[in-house]
Amino acid sequence: MAKKKNTEEPVAQKPAGGLFTYAPAPESPAAAGDIASSYGHFIGGEFVDSSGSEALKTVNPATEQVLAEFAQGTGKDVDRAVAAAREAFADWSALPGSERAKYLFRIARIIQERSRELAVLESMDNGKPIRETRDVDLPLVAAHFFYYAGWADKLDYAGFGPNPRPLGVAAQVIPWNFPLLMLAWKIAPALATGNTVVLKPAETTPLTALRFAEICRQAGLPKGVVNIVTGDGRTGAALTAHPDVNKVAFTGSTPVGRAIAKQVAGTRKKLSLELGGKAANIVFDDAPLDQAVEGIVNGIFFNQGHVCCAGSRLLVQESVQDELLAALKRRMGTLRVGDPLDKNTDIGAINSAEQLARITALTEAGEAEGAERWSPACELPGTGFWFRPTLFTGVSQAHRIAQEEIFGPVLSVLTFRTPAEAVEKANNTPYGLSAGIWTEKGSRILWMANRLKAGVVWANTFNKFDPTSPFGGYKESGYGREGGRHGLEPYLNVEARDV
Ligand code: NAD
Repeated sequence: MAKKKNTEEPVAQKPAGGLFTYAPAPESPAAAGDIASSYGHFIGGEFVDSSGSEALKTVNPATEQVLAEFAQGTGKDVDRAVAAAREAFADWSALPGSERAKYLFRIARIIQERSRELAVLESMDNGKPIRETRDVDLPLVAAHFFYYAGWADKLDYAGFGPNPRPLGVAAQVIPWNFPLLMLAWKIAPALATGNTVVLKPAETTPLTALRFAEICRQAGLPKGVVNIVTGDGRTGAALTAHPDVNKVAFTGSTPVGRAIAKQVAGTRKKLSLELGGKAANIVFDDAPLDQAVEGIVNGIFFNQGHVCCAGSRLLVQESVQDELLAALKRRMGTLRVGDPLDKNTDIGAINSAEQLARITALTEAGEAEGAERWSPACELPGTGFWFRPTLFTGVSQAHRIAQEEIFGPVLSVLTFRTPAEAVEKANNTPYGLSAGIWTEKGSRILWMANRLKAGVVWANTFNKFDPTSPFGGYKESGYGREGGRHGLEPYLNVEARDV
């Protein structure tokens, strides 16, 4: 029987670059599994209703459709979650590390098995392209649990003295830009070291954390070891202020990090802060320019630029400025902006209307201050929150777009003549999270890396993450390290190591 022609069949579209045509390659939203119409919290191993009646909504930023309602956690909900974590702590911390490791390995394996479901759900809730959730976020999430599972029975050899002890209950608050990955960065080391946790996901992206709660049940994790309480900053503040938590781990903006530091000051809570950034991606005239262009694009357009360590300031050596910018503009012309569930999409949706407004306001300030704005021609979908990949030239160090974190697909270009000038300009920011250096000279890489005030310095690459490698900031980018052996320390009572 002849196949009926589907008149709604998608038509191949010509991207702005005009070089290739791509037929749409949509991933099915059904792969995200069942999304409930409303969610409560996950406390003591059970999904429970909130003690309050306020509900928030999470929307798909590419379609503006409501995906689900979820509870605005109250002080009572937080009390209950912290009590459940406290109760679970005695048994969990007394388990041999090799036993805790088995749970972490099990969680890692389930994440791998359910990675397509989680990737699609993350793309729908966050707006990031499926190519990134599938190929970057989810593999890294699983890798984090595998990695810290490996540490759980080797803590005696981690460099913190014999038999290092956990802290107790960890309060963990995360942002919306890498919802499941930030959860993994927080929960995996906490559990490996014998702590129990209460985690609050961001209010625009709660769904993968709630799905992770199901995974904890599937893995048979003892009740109360992981608790998830949803809500906005009010719930976050109630959690970080709770008198019965021993550790506060926060990833998010610098102003909120500062407020939490004040709140925690004078208590015995241990605190780690992973905050904002304004990284310099520094290109010397001897760099392989085509490779550098790929690194610049990855540095600022990956995840719509919603990346704390994004290479948001390009510092290019004056002698190659014209050549590099011409190549960069050509490359930006080939970026496809649109449906996050299309496997060909490079730049997905901006996570929320509020974030879009923030990006828009800062780019308008860039123009008002006299920088020159450029974007490739590209059609944006009619509904949802979108922003064209954008480049600013003629940027001076005093401009707001050179100083403030835009957290969007916007690159500010500055120039330099000498390595010393590059270092000075790169460090001229209140932040210090990451930097990139592009040059073929190894000695220059080392010279620069020694002088750059950044927690991570990439050489001839950018935005490379690995669970074995510590990550964290200088100055207003925060303190404490996540990842690697260093990532164990924030969850261990190193002062009591000889006890
Ligand atoms: P945000 O600070 O507004 O919110 C982060 C989280 O904190 C959310 O869960 C929010 O509900 C909660 N929160 C808000 N007010 C709070 C309060 N008073 N007390 C406790 N919790 C509170 O940040 P955001 O807009 O969600 O995320 C973007 C920011 O996160 C950017 O600045 C980015 O650079 C930063 N970030 C940093 C890293 C890193 O590792 N350094 C990683 C990812 C994101």
